[in-house]
Amino acid sequence: MSMTSSGEEVVSPGKDEGFRFGDWKLVVVKSHIMGSACTNSCSSPTESNQQLCNFCRYEQELSLPSLPDMVFADNMLEVQHAEGGSINFTALDALKCVNNQQDTLQVAHANAWKEARADCEFAKKVVKPYDWTYTTDYRGTLKPPLSSIPTTERIDLDKLRVREEIKFYDEVFLYEDELDDNGSTRCVVKVRVMPSGFFVVLRHYLRVDMVLVRVNDTRLYSPAGASYVLRESSTREAPIQSLEVPHSVICDPDLVWQYLPVIREDIDKLIIES
Ligand SMILES: [Zn+2]
Repeated sequence: MSMTSSGEEVVSPGKDEGFRFGDWKLVVVKSHIMGSACTNSCSSPTESNQQLCNFCRYEQELSLPSLPDMVFADNMLEVQHAEGGSINFTALDALKCVNNQQDTLQVAHANAWKEARADCEFAKKVVKPYDWTYTTDYRGTLKPPLSSIPTTERIDLDKLRVREEIKFYDEVFLYEDELDDNGSTRCVVKVRVMPSGFFVVLRHYLRVDMVLVRVNDTRLYSPAGASYVLRESSTREAPIQSLEVPHSVICDPDLVWQYLPVIREDIDKLIIES
């Protein structure tokens, strides 16, 4: 298992700090990987441990038979507006969007899967149906008065490619798992602030070796001075055998997405409701 560099980082900027940009504030919280057992004797509550530890909270709030190897339970990116209202990104809410009833990938790729995984320990986990790839269609957690309305406006990606001063940048890991060395599933949110606006990408990357690559992206963009955010989500996916790109590209979430066909799109606009 490979450890990400940010996996060992422990930075706690505190809730009140953050980067201000016009009426917006971008708050990043980074902490360590959640342990794989209760850390607070939550099952026998005493006065000193009234609050559940992260492990027990995750167990209580998620009905998944297992969790990714690396969960950054305290990590968060929050985009707050001065009038109240925010959108934030956490591992708990991302994992709440994982299908806990159905193993959708096994159905769609059953033959390739069976062939590749014939005598693999990992395949046994598939017996109880849930999405063992931890694919999430999470789009961030909205707090009113920030709310979603339909729009035909699109994020101008060409404008974002123009080289500009980066006033603030950060990368926040939410969860990651190597699928017992059969690939990778990874959920990361990045934020970038430029003079012309701020840009957030929440990316879920899935690679099941010999089977498929899937990228679920949610992009947020707010031009400088605006009190709204455009939000675009997409699912891109292709069987690995159909991709004519080097293996190193397939393994790089930040490169491979542009080679994958879009199979789903969801576009809306976040506004402050008055
Ligand atoms: Zn506990």
